[in-house]
Amino acid sequence: MTGWERYAVVSCHAERPLDDRVWAAFERLLRDRPGGFAVTPLLRPPDTASGENEERWLERARVAASLAPLGHHTHWGGPTQARPKGDVDAAAIVHREAEWLRAQGLEPRFFCGGGWYLDPPVAETLASFGYVDCTATTFRQPYLADDAPRLQLDAPARVRLPSGALLLELPATHSVGMLARGVARLPGLVHVHFHDWELVDRKRSAAIGVLLRLLGRLRRPIDAAQLAERASAAQEIPWPGATITR
Ligand SMILES: [Zn+2]
Repeated sequence: MTGWERYAVVSCHAERPLDDRVWAAFERLLRDRPGGFAVTPLLRPPDTASGENEERWLERARVAASLAPLGHHTHWGGPTQARPKGDVDAAAIVHREAEWLRAQGLEPRFFCGGGWYLDPPVAETLASFGYVDCTATTFRQPYLADDAPRLQLDAPARVRLPSGALLLELPATHSVGMLARGVARLPGLVHVHFHDWELVDRKRSAAIGVLLRLLGRLRRPIDAAQLAERASAAQEIPWPGATITR
């Protein structure tokens, strides 16, 4: 299955949509589409326990949804703690957020776990809501422990979960830094990810613009929904366990 060779897709972990400067930069990116990329906004829902404003968040999420296929990003320990800590029920938090989003009339189709966290109960929850998951990566994060729950896949795949449900994975292939270093030897499919707050660092924001315009010439830009369509018959693999390290 090579329905995605020579294509590229870009997603952004929108972790600080209530920060006015970050949001302004992110909205500009969604509207400008550098390199022709409709960047998939993976939005972290508001954390009311941290005082985040739901109404303003919803206004901004609706703008994002009008500009690109909407996604959902979960931080399991509040705004600054991406991966679950202690005995939090990671799947229950995803379930609660997914239900809240739908109760607000938003239906994000894409998901990415904070800190690349994925375990079987979270994966089952994602499948039950019909999400396409972007938590897998083609690379190993050097800062994660060997046994940290995550998922590493070489290419898009339909993962058969223990319950029998299927979860389509669209693994990220590059961070911005990896793209800058690896632009001369790109794989067939490129899935770049970055964070909304990187856009308020002037040098980094400029680098993102340059790299996306270059990538848009080297690979055909598509959005996450178009990649999901192309990957709809991707290889089916059994759930490989909470962690793959290779
Ligand atoms: Zn995050």
